[in-house]
Amino acid sequence: MAYDQNNIFAKILRGEAPCFKVYEDDMTLAFMDVMPQAEGHTLVIPKFPAEDLLDLDPAFVAAQALTTKKVVAAVKRAFKAPGVMVAQLNGSAAGQTVFHFHTHIIPRSQGIDLKLHARQMADFGELKKHAELIIAELAKDA
Ligand code: 5GP
Repeated sequence: MAYDQNNIFAKILRGEAPCFKVYEDDMTLAFMDVMPQAEGHTLVIPKFPAEDLLDLDPAFVAAQALTTKKVVAAVKRAFKAPGVMVAQLNGSAAGQTVFHFHTHIIPRSQGIDLKLHARQMADFGELKKHAELIIAELAKDA
C-alpha cells in the first residue's frame, strides 16, 4: 500500500487539520488522541511520510524514541499515572487505523480498563486542559 498523503496525520503535519499539540521539534510532533483510551492518551508522529515502522526512515527512529521518552515522562507526572503504556500498531491486521506511523502513550492505573480503541470522541475542552497539563510538565524538563 502506498503512503496516502491525505491521511489525517499528514493533514495535521501540513497544518490542514487541527490538533492539541503538546510538543514539536524538527523531526517529530506530539498531540492528544481525539478518541482517547484513557485520560492523557497522546500520540507521537514523525515528520516523515511512513505508513508504519517498516516504512520509517532509519534517520527518524531515534528522534521518535527520544520524543516518546520525553512525552512519557511528562504524561506520567501530569496524570499521576503509576504506569504508562507505549504501543505502536503495524498494519490493519494489527489494528492500525491511521496509516501514518505513530506511537501511542497511554497512562495506566491498576484496575482501570482501557476504553475501546478509536471509538469515542473526547470533549475538546478536556483535551485542551490535558494538553496544557502535559505542556507544563514538559516545560519543567526543558
Ligand atoms: P491506530 O489505530 O492507527 O494505531 O491509532 C490511530 C489513533 O488515532 C486512534 O487512537 C484514534 O483515536 C486517533 N485518531 C483518529 N483520528 C484522529 C484525529 O483526527 N485527530 C487525532 N488527534 N487523533 C485521531
